[in-house]
Amino acid sequence: MKVLVIGSGGREHALVWKLAQSPHATRIWCAPGNAGIARERLAGNHSAVECLQVGAEDLAALLAFAREHQPDLTVVGPDNPLASGIVDLFQRNNLRIWGPNQKAARFESSKVFAQRFMEEHGIPTASSGSFTDPKAALAFAASLDGRCAVKADGLALGKGVLMCGTLAEAEKAIDEILVHQTFGNAGTSIVIQEFLEGMEISLHALCDGTTARLFPTSQDHKRALEGDLGLNTGGMGTYSPTPFLDDAGCASVERQVLGPWLRGCAAENIDFRGILYPGLMLTPAGPKVLEFNARFGDPETQVYLTRLENDLVELLDASVSGQLHRVELKWRPEVAVCVVMASGGYPGSYAKGKPIRGLEEAGRLPNTKVFHAGTADAAGAIVTHGGRVLGVTAWGADLSAARETAYAAVDRIQFEGAQFRRDIGAKALTGGLRR
Ligand code: AMP
Repeated sequence: MKVLVIGSGGREHALVWKLAQSPHATRIWCAPGNAGIARERLAGNHSAVECLQVGAEDLAALLAFAREHQPDLTVVGPDNPLASGIVDLFQRNNLRIWGPNQKAARFESSKVFAQRFMEEHGIPTASSGSFTDPKAALAFAASLDGRCAVKADGLALGKGVLMCGTLAEAEKAIDEILVHQTFGNAGTSIVIQEFLEGMEISLHALCDGTTARLFPTSQDHKRALEGDLGLNTGGMGTYSPTPFLDDAGCASVERQVLGPWLRGCAAENIDFRGILYPGLMLTPAGPKVLEFNARFGDPETQVYLTRLENDLVELLDASVSGQLHRVELKWRPEVAVCVVMASGGYPGSYAKGKPIRGLEEAGRLPNTKVFHAGTADAAGAIVTHGGRVLGVTAWGADLSAARETAYAAVDRIQFEGAQFRRDIGAKALTGGLRR
């Protein structure tokens, strides 16, 4: 089977790495990929993964490539091409593609839609309101004493959520998004949610239009600095499973979130084939959905795919063809940890082109996989090429062992300005059930 993967981050490296292990894969392209993806080989025939000079958002060029080379399956990593309708476009051209279509991708591309859907179908979420009028928005924020999350409706490079502790902050956030349109069209409407306190975890479910298969739990670390301080980032590290939601909790989330979500999709004629990734806050009043994403998380994918036992080509194929009811997901019992190494200055501005040393040494450690995110080749050397540079991933019998290996690998890698958190997974050792 010839497979085309779209995207260039750590998530896509993990997807390519896992797809390349499948005996079904005979050729893999990645558009545009990165230096780590370009070094992967297929287990079946030892051919190299081929990176293409085609951007993940260049739908016309992606379609032209696919029409010429006829991949048997295209796998979409990032949210933007999904929101732009790449799945519908490929389907219209009789090309088999994995990911939600444009209507289904609205769970992520419109927060107003997702919030309305949750409320209408009884999915537990924050109390909220949707607004286009700043005065009405401010009145609602005032009813929450200003303690709220102000969210741009559309995709805003992960920056469209402003957390507010006071009414003055809420007013500034409403002004920024609705009045000054800092996020452009993404901010013509906003959702305001009450500020939820609790432990935040990530869930993923693979869906095929009628069946949703829940993954084990994982937890991301959004803030740039240790102790959950500093600016929000795309994610500085993950581990899976997390002790903060046990098996009974997962079963109850399946009943309270996935059940009504599937029924709602059926009622609204939404054919969701892809990953539904709810961000969940575990509050004293029970789990509540903060948001839905409609693709694999990054860096959640890195820990999930190192634990997944199934053949990923078969799983994604079953998701496209509505056959997930025949499939059982199988997971290694090991705990996996991914530590993100980022460029100095991230999530603000940062330099690119810094040579990375120690990758081979780190990669030789047992139970370790160094996924590349923002890397590139420069005259034979691997250099930094993005904010998040590497996702150093390791697994072990328990969280302590996995962390120890992950950090041993991190300590072998150097590049100028490297920035990472030493406390990925630490909360689970001190604050939750130890496994
Ligand atoms: P979102 O993209 O909507 O998940 O928001 C980004 C991040 O903001 C989440 O991962 C949470 O850490 C935080 N957040 C969003 N909504 C809320 C809320 N209602 N209460 C507390 N934190 C929130």
